[in-house]
Amino acid sequence: MNMTDMKHSRQYKAENTVIKIGNLKLGNGGFLLAAGPCAIESANQYATIAQKVKQAGANVIRGSIFKPRSSPYSFQGLGHDGLRLIRDLGDEMDILVETEVMDPRDVKEVSRFVDILRVGARNMQNFDLLKELAKLDMPIILKRGMSATYQEWLMAAEYLMVNGNDQIILCERGIRTFEPALRNTLDLAGVAYLKHQTHLPIIVDPSHATGKRNLILPASKAAIAAGTDGLIIEVHHDPEHALCDGAQSLLPSQFNDLVTEIQPYLTIEKKHIHRKGDL
Ligand code: PEP
Ligand code: MN
Repeated sequence: MNMTDMKHSRQYKAENTVIKIGNLKLGNGGFLLAAGPCAIESANQYATIAQKVKQAGANVIRGSIFKPRSSPYSFQGLGHDGLRLIRDLGDEMDILVETEVMDPRDVKEVSRFVDILRVGARNMQNFDLLKELAKLDMPIILKRGMSATYQEWLMAAEYLMVNGNDQIILCERGIRTFEPALRNTLDLAGVAYLKHQTHLPIIVDPSHATGKRNLILPASKAAIAAGTDGLIIEVHHDPEHALCDGAQSLLPSQFNDLVTEIQPYLTIEKKHIHRKGDL
């Protein structure tokens, strides 16, 4: 098959895909700023963090209830019980909500409770999951597998696009390299490169890319310079006691500072955040 026939390709479609999610228009300068806990631990924890990040300027609340943990003894997430929490919070706070779906059998159900679905790095090439998701007509964040090439990542996007859903948001979250100091290696050249290869928007997750709280700000600024359409950032009001990824979670006040620091590069109004154009 030719690149000209691949739905994700710039050769297939020259102009940027614009994804409308609520008031957010991604792909024509709109900026997705997702923040929230790695894992939803309780209604109270989720709401506390969500309120603070919304106030700071986030336009999407992140939070997982199905957790792909390396150890079976680690907190696995609230599971199906968390679905109602997510939808209710989104409705009550009038904000977009997203979550990860891991199991192809859960896709239909989870899709009814969120505005955006997320495919995690470990599932980028879970083809049965991708085939279930391909039946939907809703925005999907597709994270890059930790050792996936650009081509493999784009072909995973193609799996989601076969039925004509072009609401695919690529997410660079770092790859595994020979460097052990950080959790992953953030591949920002890939962000710039993929802008040429695909018309799909691409966002960056500096939290999983670095694994360190004090690197989230510089990584976020660098991601904006590289052309990202958004950021997805982990925030926790009590990172010391977080059930997942506390070391990379910003305090709400630090997230607030981050939004202030990236303001010069963005126009952030109430629910409308826009890139100021190329730096
Ligand atoms: C997440 O965003 O919650 C997550 C688990 O990240 P990743 O899939 O990129 O490891
Ligand atoms: Mn996490």
